Amino acid sequence: MGDLIEQLRAGLPGEAVITDPDVTTSYGHDMAGFCPSGAPAVVVLPRTVEQVQHIMRTATALQVPVVPQGARTGLSGAANASDGCIVLSLTRMDRILEIDPVNRIAVVEPGVVNAVLSRAVGELGLCYPPDPSSWEQCTIGGNIGTGSGGLCCVKYGVTAEYVLGLEVVLADGRLLKTGRRTAKGVAGYDLTRLFVGSEGSLGIVVRAVLALKPAPPEQLALVAEFPSAAAACEAVCAIMAGGHAPSLLELMDGTTVRAVNKMARMGLPESTEALLLAAFDSHDPAADLAALGKVCTAAGATQVVPAEDTAESELLLQARRLALPALELVSTATMIDDVCVPRSALGAMLEGVAAIAAKFDLTIGVCAHAGDGNTHPVVCFDVGDPDESRRARESFDEIMALGLALGGTITGEHGVGVLKKEWLARELGPVGVELQRGVKQVFDPLGLLNPGKLF
Ligand SMILES: Cc1cc2nc3c(=O)[nH]c(=O)nc-3n(C[C@H](O)[C@H](O)[C@H](O)COP(=O)(O)OP(=O)(O)OC[C@H]3O[C@@H](n4cnc5c(N)ncnc54)[C@H](O)[C@@H]3O)c2cc1C
Repeated sequence: MGDLIEQLRAGLPGEAVITDPDVTTSYGHDMAGFCPSGAPAVVVLPRTVEQVQHIMRTATALQVPVVPQGARTGLSGAANASDGCIVLSLTRMDRILEIDPVNRIAVVEPGVVNAVLSRAVGELGLCYPPDPSSWEQCTIGGNIGTGSGGLCCVKYGVTAEYVLGLEVVLADGRLLKTGRRTAKGVAGYDLTRLFVGSEGSLGIVVRAVLALKPAPPEQLALVAEFPSAAAACEAVCAIMAGGHAPSLLELMDGTTVRAVNKMARMGLPESTEALLLAAFDSHDPAADLAALGKVCTAAGATQVVPAEDTAESELLLQARRLALPALELVSTATMIDDVCVPRSALGAMLEGVAAIAAKFDLTIGVCAHAGDGNTHPVVCFDVGDPDESRRARESFDEIMALGLALGGTITGEHGVGVLKKEWLARELGPVGVELQRGVKQVFDPLGLLNPGKLF
């Protein structure tokens, strides 16, 4: 331990090495509940690539595990510390190094907060689309680590589609450059994509080249109220099959709506069974919303209310962004699932989740990036009640089994971390696991990077 701190200090400024247990403990875990975490030996907060290289060389020399962290808003325990590890927080590497409107790219350090980047590129008439609901806190490094999605993915796609190139410090301290700054490029294996969603298990991202889009017009939203989740899911399928291209298509079930009202007095319809929020950022959003509203009505919507202006639209989005925090207040604890199914199976997924809630006698609220088929069933339970806690865990697992049975995936955007590692093998199968372990071995032969995650 003494050796480790001494050697880290040899290449880092004093304030970048924290050993006070009161502080290091606070870096122990991300925002996922019920994931084991350990006590880090030290937290390091580098500001430069060279400092990250020094940390990794030290870790390799002394064979100490390293857990990279962004803002720790993750929901799968992927950033949780292990006992005696080095927590490598990238939050101080937070500079936007370049915004290039001609090539439509931004070059950033990993600790840049998503919303900060969005606002900076917005000032130049550009847009960085991936927008997790946690965008005011989460970092680009964390977004790359988890391959995060967000509210606008139904039209613009997920983080993976915007990462063109990376600089990565490998386990032994070498610097790897992947990808490109060009609009096209197919030289060699796509290592850039490999790092997206790798949960800090292959290397430390220290720079990212991100693709930008021209900023679209401001979006206008509507809310449609449904008498059942099934009718809302039918509307989603009809919208997508009908060739509509909403910039947002989100679902909140009745439990979620009531939780949001309770938390923030949003004035959403209390008695609804499901709300769809849809938006367009097109040149005639009012006309597009009117067409989409007709589809909702045909699917059984009892009310379709378009927002009057962008301020009202933003309020609707705000209600959706509050869904997870609001459901967290329903009981003393929650487990947040992230199962993504083909859109055509969304109705079956929601019906199945309702059956699971009834079977285990639990409240399970569902919000969903409905246009992506990505559901977030949130299991609410009393952590002080051992039997309810057991039922919560079992229902959480049944939800994943249901998702796989419907042709889906155990995680659409939150990642595997420690929360779902027992399930990854079921999804990948033995050949998939063997090859993925092989890839890990190539990048991290000593198994020092974020051990205990994924597999
Ligand atoms: C209220 C709320 C709403 C959310 N909404 C969404 C949503 O809509 N969509 C969504 O996808 N997620 C959502 N999340 C989850 C979370 O915000 C995302 O997973 C986010 O990408 C995590 O970013 P972070 O900076 O907090 O990373 P962390 O949680 O700190 O880390 C996440 C992973 O990335 C790795 N990592 C971090 N930085 C680096 C780096 N520089 N190099 C290598 N590995 C690194 C970590 O080791 C870890 O495995 C939400 C979370 C909350 C609390």
